Amino acid sequence: MILKNKTLSPRLLSLIILVFQFQSVFGQEEAFKTEILKWPDGKKAAISLTYDDGTSNQFHVALPIMEELGMKGTFYINTGEIPSSQTRAQFFGREPKVIIAESASIPTNEENIFERASLIRFLDMPGAVSYHDRSGSTYEQGRIEQACKILDEGFAKARELKITELVYPRIIDGPMIDWEEIRKYADSGHEFGVHTISHPRLAVLDEKNLLFELEACRDEIERELGKEQLFSAECPFGTEDERVMEYALEMFPALRNRMPEAYLEEINRSGLFDASQDYGKEYIQWQRGPLSKTTPELMNSWVDDILTREDTWLVLVFHGIEGIGWEAIPEDRIRAYFEYIAGKSKEVWVAPFRDVTQYMRQRMNTNMKKTVNKDMISLKLESDLDPYWYRQLLTMKTYIPTDWKSVTFVQGGKTETLEVQKDAGGSFVQYNADPHGGELALKNVGQ
Ligand SMILES: [Zn+2]
Repeated sequence: MILKNKTLSPRLLSLIILVFQFQSVFGQEEAFKTEILKWPDGKKAAISLTYDDGTSNQFHVALPIMEELGMKGTFYINTGEIPSSQTRAQFFGREPKVIIAESASIPTNEENIFERASLIRFLDMPGAVSYHDRSGSTYEQGRIEQACKILDEGFAKARELKITELVYPRIIDGPMIDWEEIRKYADSGHEFGVHTISHPRLAVLDEKNLLFELEACRDEIERELGKEQLFSAECPFGTEDERVMEYALEMFPALRNRMPEAYLEEINRSGLFDASQDYGKEYIQWQRGPLSKTTPELMNSWVDDILTREDTWLVLVFHGIEGIGWEAIPEDRIRAYFEYIAGKSKEVWVAPFRDVTQYMRQRMNTNMKKTVNKDMISLKLESDLDPYWYRQLLTMKTYIPTDWKSVTFVQGGKTETLEVQKDAGGSFVQYNADPHGGELALKNVGQ
């Protein structure tokens, strides 16, 4: 462009100055580019060690090994069988003998299936729990007619045996540990969560019985361990039944069954994970359930797989340990596996289900307000998340000008000298910020 006048008009001049000013401020802002890292301390992946049903060797065999290696786990417990619990399993509904008698003339159908499935596991006859479990799993597969048939068989047997008594359905193998011991583990940092009173197929319980199983277990845990243990829960049998998920997600901030986050790809225990695939999501949660026959090589390969990428959270689901509980895994295999994981602790964050969920949600829901001065940058972290639950320290990475040779991090009266590091993006520092610790600052203290 050729200017007609030899001199620039004042308006054009001020515009040019404005652009230059903007560019220099913008350049400076860019120099302080800040992000919250995907996992604490810049690790590449997360692992949660979770246990279901609360069988005793989880605590007497697996937990001590974890303690030795500095790992904390998550235990989803059935409170009905804990010796000093106040609430036992209970059936709510019409007179059992009326329901049993009615089954002689009215076959099980979509109207009465929940009532019958809720009752049958309490009947004092062999296989009562199995009729309930099988009808529940069949129902969840969408084979409702077949599920009704299983209940018809069960009630025919109840009529034949003239069952009139209800008994407490025993589900868990072996002796259960008591609250006093559980409290010790909870106090040392392990997470405990609701797994219902007595481990039913919630999908085939009617509303009253379903809510009782979740709420009474929740109340027992709150009474014994405090509200802080009511963050994550697991509904039995890994159910993803819509009706159950709706009730449970209303009650608990997180479920191992299913999470509400759109940015999280969930691959459940029966699903396949391809470590080389781009899932197009910010995070992936991959669940694996080692069983008694699962080889050490396969178990180790899950850890190796998640370390080929940076977005994956491996959630391991354990049941029986060393002879007690479903599909029990021997002690030596558990030890070797946990040692294998501990050997990767530079790259892997091992933490309870609760902590990983909290970190991930905080990272995705925190806004930063930046103020840049000469030799100093201040950051304010803001989020709408409930401060009662969301208190994980956030690992932050901030790019700094190349002439900053020594940097301190200041937050809430705490001062720390940071190591200046370099990558393709330039010089940077990494530090852990407390989301509720007030404004933080990075200061150039070089020269
Ligand atoms: Zn279970």
